[in-house]
Amino acid sequence: MSNITTFQDLGLSQETLDAIVKKGFEEPTTIQARTIPVMLHSDANIIAQAQTGTGKTAAFGLPLLDLVDPVSRTVQALVLVPTRELAIQVSEEINSFRGSKKVRIVPIYGGQSIDQQLRRLKQGVQIVVGTPGRIIDHLNRKTLNLTAISHLILDEADEMLNMGFIDEMEEILKHTNPDKRTLLFSATMPDKIKKLANDYMEGYELIAVEKEQL
Ligand code: ADP
Ligand code: MG
Repeated sequence: MSNITTFQDLGLSQETLDAIVKKGFEEPTTIQARTIPVMLHSDANIIAQAQTGTGKTAAFGLPLLDLVDPVSRTVQALVLVPTRELAIQVSEEINSFRGSKKVRIVPIYGGQSIDQQLRRLKQGVQIVVGTPGRIIDHLNRKTLNLTAISHLILDEADEMLNMGFIDEMEEILKHTNPDKRTLLFSATMPDKIKKLANDYMEGYELIAVEKEQL
C-alpha cells in the first residue's frame, strides 16, 4: 500500500517538523501516520501494534514532545522499556527529535549510578525512559514522583511480559495518576497483552498494522 500521508498532515508542531527534517525522515511509516494524530487530537488510550523496525519509538516520541510542557519541571511521561539498552536507545531517539525545545528526557536503568540519576532527576525532567526494576527503586526512595504523569507508555510490551515484568508493571501503575492515558506499543499481540489492556486500560483505540502495510 503506498503511503501518501506526510509528516505535515499529522498535526505536529513546526519545531518538531523541523527536527524530523534534520533527522532525515522523509515520510511517516504507517504506524506513525495512524498513531500520531490520535495521540495529538484525542485523549484515548492506545494499543499500537506493528512489527519490529517500523518506527514505533517515533510514533509515540514525536507527539509526546508536543504534548509535554517544558515549562513545568514535573515528570509528565514515563516510558517503560524492558532492557537498559532500550532505555538508552529510546531516550536518545526521543532526544534527537527535541530540536530547540527545552524538554528533558532522562534514561533510568539498573547498572548506572543511582546518584547520577538522582542529580538528573532533580534538575527537572519531563520524560523518563526506564526499566521496571530501577524505576521501582526510585519510587521506593521517593526520588521519582509519577503522581502527575499524563502519559504512561509501555514500549515493547510483549517483551516486557516475556521477561516476566508483570508484577513490576503493576507495582509501578499503583504509583501513577489514575487520570493518565496509557499507550501500549508492541510488535505482537498475544492474549496476555489483551488481558493486560483489559485489566489496566479503561477502553482503548486499537491501531494494528499488518505486515504488508509497512
Ligand atoms: P520499532 O520500535 O518499531 O522496532 P524503531 O522505533 O526502533 O522501531 O525504529 C527503527 C528504525 O527506523 C530507527 O533507526 C528509526 O530511527 C528509523 N525510523 C523510524 N521512523 C522512520 C521514518 N519515518 N523514516 C525513516 N526512518 C525511520
Ligand atoms: Mg521499539
